[in-house]
Formats: sequence, structure tokens, C-alpha cells
Amino acid sequence: MTATYKAFQAIAPGKLRAMDLPIAEPPPGHVRVRVEACGVCHSDALTVEGGFPGLTYPRVPGHEAIGKIDALGSGVEPWRVGQRVGIGFLGGHCGICSRCRRGDFVNCERQPMSGVHTDGGYAEVMIAKANALAAIPDDLSPVDAAPLLCAGLTTFNALRKSKARAGDLVAIQGIGGLGHLAIQYAMRMGFKVAAIARGAEKRDLAWKLGAHHYIDSKLQDPSAELQALGGARVILATAANSQSMSALVGGLSPQGEMIVAGAGGDEPIGISAIPLIFGERSIAGTLTGHSIDSEDTLAFSTLHGIRAMVETLPLAQAPEAYRRMMNNEARFRVVLAPSSRRFALNSSSTEPPMSLKTLASQFVELCRQGKNFDAMHALYAPDIVSVEASGEETAGKKPVIHKSEVWQANNAVAGEYVRGPYFNGPNQFAVHFSFEVTPKATGQRITLEEVGVYTVENGKITREQFFYDGER
Ligand SMILES: [Zn+2]
Ligand SMILES: [Zn+2]
Repeated sequence: MTATYKAFQAIAPGKLRAMDLPIAEPPPGHVRVRVEACGVCHSDALTVEGGFPGLTYPRVPGHEAIGKIDALGSGVEPWRVGQRVGIGFLGGHCGICSRCRRGDFVNCERQPMSGVHTDGGYAEVMIAKANALAAIPDDLSPVDAAPLLCAGLTTFNALRKSKARAGDLVAIQGIGGLGHLAIQYAMRMGFKVAAIARGAEKRDLAWKLGAHHYIDSKLQDPSAELQALGGARVILATAANSQSMSALVGGLSPQGEMIVAGAGGDEPIGISAIPLIFGERSIAGTLTGHSIDSEDTLAFSTLHGIRAMVETLPLAQAPEAYRRMMNNEARFRVVLAPSSRRFALNSSSTEPPMSLKTLASQFVELCRQGKNFDAMHALYAPDIVSVEASGEETAGKKPVIHKSEVWQANNAVAGEYVRGPYFNGPNQFAVHFSFEVTPKATGQRITLEEVGVYTVENGKITREQFFYDGER
């Protein structure tokens, strides 16, 4: 029996198909990675919808992939088997073209794009060029790290390379996958941040993310508003909408620059020559960054607690994840977690009752606080409290530590992540936990994934069921 792995291939415009593909050995200079998480990015449309130069079907999309190395090709240094790495959009520079010889690896003339020219992360396994790898810090979960490799890297790198200096007005156009990270980075870099989006409902979110000003482009003229604030030194345009970018140039200060990060919309960006000449304003594009830029992005994100807001779906639901992203339904990044395939969260089509929503969000909040195990269990019906509160369990060969044990064991918890609630129906919700623990028995840090599915009656949790993944 040949070993195979599951993957989703784009086979025709708009079509993704599940496939079992044979596991291959990595060629020289490459590594093979067991994918733990992969973000779903708007640029995946370059592959799925077709049309990117050099693209041939079938092709596995995905360029926000995190996983552990499980095989090394020859000549790969300093990477080692078992190390957690990430692979972003740029698939590894060639080292010999004229751009590479000038140290401009991002613009290498022969660089494959992950998930476009080579198979990407909508899969359990992927092969990547070693010089495209970014090391992933231990205190970042795979699901959290994934979106930072493209949405995070793109915005972080654009802002730090820009002309803006501490205290300058920086505008972020669009609060989506890229924009909601850009606001957090811009604020932490010390800029005065104006967020621009359509509609009043984004205002609270903009403030929560750290924006100092919110401009509702439905009601206000963003250029005039930016000028009223003194003019933007930098506008980072993240929404894939050429028309709304055209309307922003007038908001730049003299010497200001608009940086285009959101690709999409076939329409050209229309710009009058006058504001460019009088005021020496400029407009430029930005292309993610190199693997070391990825590591800088991750380090800065960890330092300042910057995370993408994500929804997780198992790999088996890749077509649904892609659809949510394309229809702007994702809040704000969908991440595929192949190892979570043993559970399926049904997104409920009907609105859950308010009582369920209240209980679920209360529960999730208590879980996030982590240590408040007793308070959390007060939400349970009396007969269920004792059921799951007992120590260590073993699922097959994999060590599984129940969260009560994790929380009670001193020094065991390295980090803990809680996502959800996801509603499975009128009386059920699910919560996705991932955390890193160091079991006393082995002393070795491992990542655990678990999904709790909770059934609710009369405002109490009457049943909980856990789906585990042990060491990944
Ligand atoms: Zn991307
Ligand atoms: Zn090159």
C-alpha cells in the first residue's frame, strides 16, 4: 500500500476536488511538511479561478501553511525534522537571477508562488523549498500563525517599509482579512491610525482593533476627512476595490504615499495627475515579503499580542472555506486545520436563539480566562459537573490531557487558545480549543487540539462531548 495524503486540487475555474495523492520524497533543497493549518486567502482565487500566468491544473492552492517538517531533502540546512515551519506566498528565491544578486529576493525573477506554481497548503502534506521556510515561534499556535504569513506579513512589511514615522497619520482602507491586522500593526508601530470602511457597523471593531479615527466611506468623503486630520502620510489600501482606492489619493499629505496591497477588481485605479505632481504624492504596490520578513512579522505579532480573528474549518470543508472567503462571509480569516478532520462543525443556517448565544458566549469568555474552571462549570447541569473533570486520558498512543488537568497542573500551560462559539443547531454549540502543554510524565511540549460540543437545555449545559487530536 502506498502512503497517501488528502488534498484539495483546483481542477477547473471555480472547482475544488478532494484527492488522495501519493506521498513523495522531498527533492534536494526541499522539505516535506505535515500541514497543521492553512489560511484561506483572497489570492487563492488566482489558482481556483484560474488565470494566473504559468498556472496549470490540477493544482493544490494555499499559501498560509504551517506544519512540522517530516522529511528533509539533501542539502537542507539548518532545518530539522520535527521543526514547526511556515510557508507563505513566495515559494523560495533562485539565488542567481539579477534581482537575487542585488539581494532583492522578493522580486526574484524565477520564484515559484506557493499554491500557484507548486502545490500549497489545502492538504495534509506539502513540499516546500527550504529557503522559503519561516521558523514558527513555540508560543504561537499553528492556527494563529497561518494568517500572519500572508495577510499579516503583507501589511506589517508594507507599514514598516513605508515613509511613515511614529506619530504620523496612517490610513488603513478596508477592514477585512488584511485590514483588521493592518490596524493592529499600525497602532502598535506608533502611528495615528484612521480606519476607512463602509458602514457604521465596522466602527466599534475599528476602535477595538486600535484605530484612533473611523471614516465611514458610505457617509463621508474619505479624502476630505483625512485632510481634516492633517493628511495621511501613508494610506494602505487593503480592500480589493480599485474604485474606492481612486477616491483616496486626495487624502494624502504632501510626500504621502498610497500603498496598494489588495489585489482584485479588474478595473484600473484612476488617479488624477494633479495631486501627484503638486505635493509629490506617490502610489506603489507591495508584495508580501521574504521568509525572514515572515519571522519578523511573527515575532512582532507575538511581542504585541497581535492575532488575526479566525474561523477554523477542517480540511474536508475546504470548498466551503473558500466560498466563505470569496463571499466576504469570513470573520475575518478562515483557517483550515487538517488535523481537525475528526469533527465537522456545521455552520447553522438558522439564527440560534438568544438564550443559547448568551450562554455560549459566557462560556467561551470563561474558557478564555482559562483559570476559572469552577465558574465555567457553574454553567453545567449538576449531574454533568463531575463527568469530565478528571485528570489525564489516553487516546490510542497519543497523550491527551484534559483541560481541567492542564489548568490545575502548575507550569503545564504554555499558551491556550479558544475559538468559537460555533452553533450547530438550536440547542448545541461547539468550541475549538488548542493549547500547548508539557505533560509532567514526558517533559516534552506538545500541541493539543480539542473541540467541545455542548448540548444545552433550560439554560444549562447537559451534555459535553470532546473530539481530540493529540500530538501533531
Ligand atoms: Zn495571501
Ligand atoms: Zn532569483
